[in-house]
Amino acid sequence: MSERFATVALDVPLPRVFDYRLPGMQQVAVGQRVIVPFGRQVLSGVVLALGETAPDVATVRDVLDVPADMPALPDDVLDLCRFCADYYAYPLGAVLAAALPGAFRQPKPWPGHEDAGAYVAPDPAALLATLSPRAARQRALAELLAQPRRVETIRAVAGDAMRWLRDWIAAGWVVRTAAPTLDAEVAPAASPALNAGQQAAVDAVAAPQGFQPWLLYGITGSGKTEVYLRAIEAVRRRGRQALVLVPEINLTPQLESRFRARFPQEHIVSLHSGLADGERVRHWLDAAEGRAGIVLGTRLAVFAPLPRLGLVVVDEEHDASYRQAEGFRYSARDAAIYRARLRDVPVLLGSATPSLESWKNARDGRYRLLRLTERAVSGARPPAVELVPTQRQRLTDGFSDTVLGALRDTLASGGQALVFVNRRGYAPVLSCQECGWMSSCRHCSARLVLHLTERRLRCHHCGHEERVPPACPDCGNHDLKPVGHGTQRVEAVLETLFPDANLLRIDRDSTRRKGALGEMLRRVHAGEADLLVGTQMLAKGHDFPGLALVVVLNADGGLFSADFRAEERLFAQLLQVAGRAGRADRAGRVLVQTHYPDHPFYAALLAGDYAAFADGQLQERRALALPPYAAWAVLRAEARQLQLALAFLRETKALLAGSAVHVADPVPAALARKAGWERAHVVLSASGRAPLQAALRFLAQHLAEAPPRGVRWALDVDPQEF
Ligand code: ADP
Ligand code: ZN
Ligand code: ZN
Repeated sequence: MSERFATVALDVPLPRVFDYRLPGMQQVAVGQRVIVPFGRQVLSGVVLALGETAPDVATVRDVLDVPADMPALPDDVLDLCRFCADYYAYPLGAVLAAALPGAFRQPKPWPGHEDAGAYVAPDPAALLATLSPRAARQRALAELLAQPRRVETIRAVAGDAMRWLRDWIAAGWVVRTAAPTLDAEVAPAASPALNAGQQAAVDAVAAPQGFQPWLLYGITGSGKTEVYLRAIEAVRRRGRQALVLVPEINLTPQLESRFRARFPQEHIVSLHSGLADGERVRHWLDAAEGRAGIVLGTRLAVFAPLPRLGLVVVDEEHDASYRQAEGFRYSARDAAIYRARLRDVPVLLGSATPSLESWKNARDGRYRLLRLTERAVSGARPPAVELVPTQRQRLTDGFSDTVLGALRDTLASGGQALVFVNRRGYAPVLSCQECGWMSSCRHCSARLVLHLTERRLRCHHCGHEERVPPACPDCGNHDLKPVGHGTQRVEAVLETLFPDANLLRIDRDSTRRKGALGEMLRRVHAGEADLLVGTQMLAKGHDFPGLALVVVLNADGGLFSADFRAEERLFAQLLQVAGRAGRADRAGRVLVQTHYPDHPFYAALLAGDYAAFADGQLQERRALALPPYAAWAVLRAEARQLQLALAFLRETKALLAGSAVHVADPVPAALARKAGWERAHVVLSASGRAPLQAALRFLAQHLAEAPPRGVRWALDVDPQEF
């Protein structure tokens, strides 16, 4: 018999693949996971190709195991990973590893394999005929398996039930199958009659069609989620699966329960990094083996195998969370679009503030634009945004009199109010009034944030912590003052100003404990909190029907950033926060305190016209040849000495001299020092994708083969931050 070989992708930092011999009779398919020796290690990898020969037959080593825990990855997932490896100039093995649940990256079979999914006997009568008439328990199990059963049910039959099951599977009497249907008694939650805009959107997206990106641009509360639900319903009626991506599933439990209420008969699974290992694998298998009709997940879900995929939805498509910021830096939104193209299915991107990339695609006719211009609940109006100029006002602990008055009125009339602060902690920095000393991190070029309740100074970049010093470390002055306002300080201020209010602070610190956020949101909904202080965590996707007033304490920071995306982000953030107000029958009011009321940015915000703002931004970007009018990548470097990082970047720049890519001069990063590493980067830009891709491929190969000494590097394609 001829020998067989497998080309395997491994999660190692090398842009190449590896060959192994397949010993014995092992049945192996492309896309399957295999366990192989690599140097002195044992690794899990994915088979990319099978062949009769290998380039180095004499030296190739044997595959050690082919675990049956994971079905082979289908072609579209492999193709998506190949595309990402190429586009983001990242090793394919590492991309594949990122695409798989952790348990399938381990070089050993997943022990919980048989607990996932369900089992059924296609011909129970024939199975029964093989059993002794006296084997009552076995017969009971065989009869039970006439319907698909989960492992919990099977185990309950007898202590030996799993052993019998394994025998029957081996003999072919029983197969793994779709999950048993869910509780069919529950009636689906009523769905509202769609308004004309929603109906048009649903008709467009739900009609049978091939690949087509749709951009659903609808103000907050305009009923975008309702459009997703209806489109999914149509897709499910055709027996196809829907993949729904959300920015942060922990922040959107409401969405999940809304889906479950609407589709009680559906097997809906979530996929996100907050799941326990076993749970994540089970959900992944439910998706991959076609049991789950709807998969709701964060960015990593874009790689889940879905044999009957019919629709991809990307909610809040502009959200920065779709971008992985470390390691394999990819955009799940862009990957979702590519996935839909591979599968020839429609993809629905929804947002009240679409990214300029998507907006341009819609303007250019590559995406089709769907608009929802009014709030869906009849009578509900978008909130009125007002500026509160603070240049000449006396502020009480950061609050203008206008804002304090509005808070008082809102609370007096029984409404809820939300104060939005964009930093957590007590104050962004502790400072000495005598000598100008400021608390700063010894590992980063960043300030230490004062967390007063814990009496700690904390670096939000590297996690470094220290005690609050009793006196100024430089001059000994005892009068150290917090500067600026974080959520904790605002909370403390409001506590003294409104002692009777039920105050709730919602930020990353107050919701660290598992389940804490859910409990807080429940209290908000139950009306047990009337004054909320929160970061952008509160701005995303949550529906607060009682919210009558939103206060933005200080938004100006984003106006003078060196980052060309800062205004786009600020606009999105403020519209999202503002969108929380007046969702039901109350007209909401939004007050934005600013030192720069005449800045053109605020004129656009007051007009509440994102389309006009986006068109204006695109004009600027075009004039300056910035993305999306140019293709950008960043080569990042970190070293113990800045000179080393800069020298490396200069050498690399020289390598690209004469190519069609423009390479800017190396510059220190905005956060020039992080966790003891000096950081710098160069921007690579080109008028088109192709020349940039060519340069990136060359660089990735070159740097992997000749790694620089003492320098950590990374390529960041379509960089979002600088
Ligand atoms: P978005 O996702 O655009 O923020 P949602 O889909 O959450 O908007 O809808 C906002 C609110 O309006 C929800 O409470 C939803 O139940 C309700 N809603 C949506 N569509 C309709 C409709 N056609 N008629 C009445 N209420 C609707
Ligand atoms: Zn001092
Ligand atoms: Zn630090």
